[in-house]
Amino acid sequence: MIPASFHTTVASLDRLPADSLAEVAFVGRSNAGKSSALNALANRRRLAFVSRTPGRTQHLNYFRVGPGRYLVDLPGYGFARAPLTQQRTWQALAGDYLVSRAALRGLVWIMDIRHPLTELDRQLITWWRQTGKPVHVLLSKADKLSRGQALAAVRAVREWLAGQGLPGEVQPFSATRRMGLEQVEAVLRAWLDLPGAGIGGKKNPAQGDKAGWNEP
Ligand code: GDP
Repeated sequence: MIPASFHTTVASLDRLPADSLAEVAFVGRSNAGKSSALNALANRRRLAFVSRTPGRTQHLNYFRVGPGRYLVDLPGYGFARAPLTQQRTWQALAGDYLVSRAALRGLVWIMDIRHPLTELDRQLITWWRQTGKPVHVLLSKADKLSRGQALAAVRAVREWLAGQGLPGEVQPFSATRRMGLEQVEAVLRAWLDLPGAGIGGKKNPAQGDKAGWNEP
């Protein structure tokens, strides 16, 4: 668990918090399970739903997890009937933020394990790739699949990432069953230099999980 509290809502790049030393962005298609993942990580039932309140859905929502340390909830992309203006708004704020924010250490990318890597997802990664920064993929709603199916999905996305030359890891995740939490939490602690990083002496926090999702 990473204690988090709502900090601020940002509607334009010139309003980003000036005190940020390190931050991690959460991104995903609408309905992928991003809010549920943030809530599960922070162990707060409604934390990320603050991003849903009117006037905030298209903004960057900052959650403070330590001094100068933030998780940033980006607007979901890919509403089926989103007007073009909304897509442009997303690019002008979230897209530009992703490529230009110096304090940004890495990206947590949430995709529904049952249909990852849609056309829109791939477009997002063409933006991110230019940063050279790592991505950590949560394949969400893993409780909807058998273990074998989940691991096959993880392998496929992992291979795709490697083919793209993108540094990062891929893991199954379920907010409802609280599966895969330790794994992503270790990545966040390492990226954000939060206390507790490296506990247990794991060399790569993205590998290994007590929830039984490891490959043999
Ligand atoms: P967001 O739009 O990406 O923030 O997605 P939400 O977190 O609001 O989740 C979208 C829908 O998926 C909701 O109906 C959630 O209850 C459901 N959901 C989210 N995470 C999980 C999960 O781990 N397992 C299952 N079965 N459903 C989930």
